[in-house]
Amino acid sequence: MKIAVITAAEQVSLREEPDPVAGARDVLVRIGACGLCTMERRLYLGTKPVYPVAAGHEVAGEVVAVGAEAEGLPGSPRVGDTVTLDLLTRCGTCVSCRRGRSALCKRPQGGALSDGTVSMGAGLAELVRVPAAQAFGTGAAPVRHAVMGEPLACVTHSARLGGLRAGDRVAVVGAGFMGRLHLALAKLRGAASVGLIDISEDRLTEARDAGADWTSTPDAAVATGGKQDLVFVTAGAPDALETALALCDDGGTVVLFGAFPKELVAGVGPDAIHHHELTVLGVFSHEPEDWTEAAALIASGRLAADLDALVTAEFPLAEADAALRLAAKSPVYRVLVGG
Ligand SMILES: [Zn+2]
Ligand SMILES: [Zn+2]
Repeated sequence: MKIAVITAAEQVSLREEPDPVAGARDVLVRIGACGLCTMERRLYLGTKPVYPVAAGHEVAGEVVAVGAEAEGLPGSPRVGDTVTLDLLTRCGTCVSCRRGRSALCKRPQGGALSDGTVSMGAGLAELVRVPAAQAFGTGAAPVRHAVMGEPLACVTHSARLGGLRAGDRVAVVGAGFMGRLHLALAKLRGAASVGLIDISEDRLTEARDAGADWTSTPDAAVATGGKQDLVFVTAGAPDALETALALCDDGGTVVLFGAFPKELVAGVGPDAIHHHELTVLGVFSHEPEDWTEAAALIASGRLAADLDALVTAEFPLAEADAALRLAAKSPVYRVLVGG
């Protein structure tokens, strides 16, 4: 099969790799689309210099083979199904997995191609093998929606751990791709209102078009949106935690979703958290039940318009280089590769 490998900063080569073979509990999937996320941008730009690397962890496609032990089980994918893929390693053995927190599995993630090239998803390819338990059917939804299963599972995880309920007043800091998925999910779940906060006027305009009840720059957020029950921080900007805490009403929750610079330190008064019964919660990645929900939402078609609005461009696999360049160097929502 063909696979795109990042060989150095801003260098991509399309090479041949033996077709993966499905084991007894696996499925083999012909990749229809792979979304380019922050990880792929960093690998391409060289801010995360791991070379050569087979990137691409947001993947969906069509099942072309099912292993003997997975075949015919109720709920198990069948040949011809469109599936969205959880490509994480969940060892089931470490203390995190045993506690049901497999997003935090302690086994190192990633694998290797036949020549030892590091694999971090290897979704910029024609085929991928995955445990059948980690392939989730998305019904009749188009693959350009199914490919958003991974980021949407991150967002259903965020909403689940954050305790999102119908009637909540919700604010989202960051109106990029992940902020917009939070907006779509919160609206679907019956939030009383959802406001989006960003420094980009273009993104705020697009968020309003997508259904945001209010939008604001960070400095005017409290004056514009008022106090909130739940604040999702999807952009790890300096002062984002302080902005979020200022927005939080008594008993409210701040969910730290986006990655922050490792060296960043926040100035937060513990008494405000104590006195107002605030919760500050970190969320990272996703777990199987989040995938079940994300795949079902995609299959239902109820997010179709939201997901369509977030596809910035689509490229064939042969043009993975151009796709990575666009994703890394322009303000995009999602760039898709493959099919
Ligand atoms: Zn991702
Ligand atoms: Zn584990």
